[in-house]
Amino acid sequence: MNLTFENRVALVTGAGRGIGRAIAESLAKEGVTVICVSRSASSCGEAADAICAAGGKAVAKAVDVANGPEVAKACEELLAEYGNIDILVNNAGITKDNLLFRMTEDDWQSVIDTNLNSVFHWVKGLARPMTRKRRGRVINITSVSGIMGNAGQTNYSSAKAGMIGFTKSLARELASRSITVNAVAPGFIKTDMTSALADNALDMILPQIPLKRMGEASDIANMVTYLASDQANYITGQVFTVDGGMAM
Ligand code: NAP
Repeated sequence: MNLTFENRVALVTGAGRGIGRAIAESLAKEGVTVICVSRSASSCGEAADAICAAGGKAVAKAVDVANGPEVAKACEELLAEYGNIDILVNNAGITKDNLLFRMTEDDWQSVIDTNLNSVFHWVKGLARPMTRKRRGRVINITSVSGIMGNAGQTNYSSAKAGMIGFTKSLARELASRSITVNAVAPGFIKTDMTSALADNALDMILPQIPLKRMGEASDIANMVTYLASDQANYITGQVFTVDGGMAM
C-alpha cells in the first residue's frame, strides 16, 4: 500500500530520541515536513539535522512540554509560521518509577505534567486551525501500562490511562470536523527509557511477551505513520497496542 500525505506538516514531541525520533524520520521519509520537539535543543537539533541530511524537511524546536505557558507560546509561534499543523504526535514522556509508598509528590506530578497535561496543552494550542481546515490527525503515544497497570508505575499508568480517555473523548468532539484522534500503546521497546532495565527484570518481562522479544522504535513509527496518512481516514477513537501480543 502506498501511503499518501499531501503538503503535510507534523509536530512530534520527544522527537530527539527513541520512538519519537523514529516517528519523525518515518514521516519525513513520506515527504512530511516535521517539527521535532524535545526538551534539549541539542537532541531535537540532531534529529532535525539528520532528517535534512537524508533529504527530508525538518526543523527543531526545544520546548518543555510539561510547561503549559511554554507550550502555548510555541504553538502561537508555529501557527504564525505554518498556518496549520496537520499532524500532532504527542510522544514525549518520562518515567519516575517507585512503589506507591515510596513515590514522592514530585515523582507523581512531574510524570502527570509531562505525559498527560502536555497533551492537553498541545491540543489546545494546535487543534483550532485543524477544525477550520476540516482535516487533521492527533496521535497520542500511551503505553500497555495504561491498559494493564504495572507495579511501581502508579504515576505513569495513571497518565497513560488518562491519555486513552482523552483520546476517545477528543475523537468524539472532533469527528464532525474530519479530525481523527487515536492512541498507540507500545509494549517494551528498545530505547533509552528501557535501557536501564536490569537483566533480571528483562528475564521476567520477556516470557510475558508472546513474540518473546522487545520491539523496535520503528515498529511504533510504522503504526503512527499509517494512522497519520490519508489511508487511515476512517479510523478514530482507537487504541492500537504494538507490543508483541503482551496485552491481548
Ligand atoms: P526516550 O528514549 O526516553 O525519549 C524521550 C523523549 O521525550 C526525548 O526526546 C526527550 O527529550 C523527550 N522529553 C521528555 N520529557 C520532555 C519534556 N518535559 N519536554 C520535552 N521533551 C521531553 O523515550 P521513548 O522510549 O522513546 O518513549 C517515547 C514515548 O513512548 C513515551 O511517551 C513513553 O512513555 C512511551 N512508551 C515507551 C515504551 C518503551 O518501551 N520505550 C513503552 C511504552 C510507551 P530530550 O531528548 O531532550 O531528553
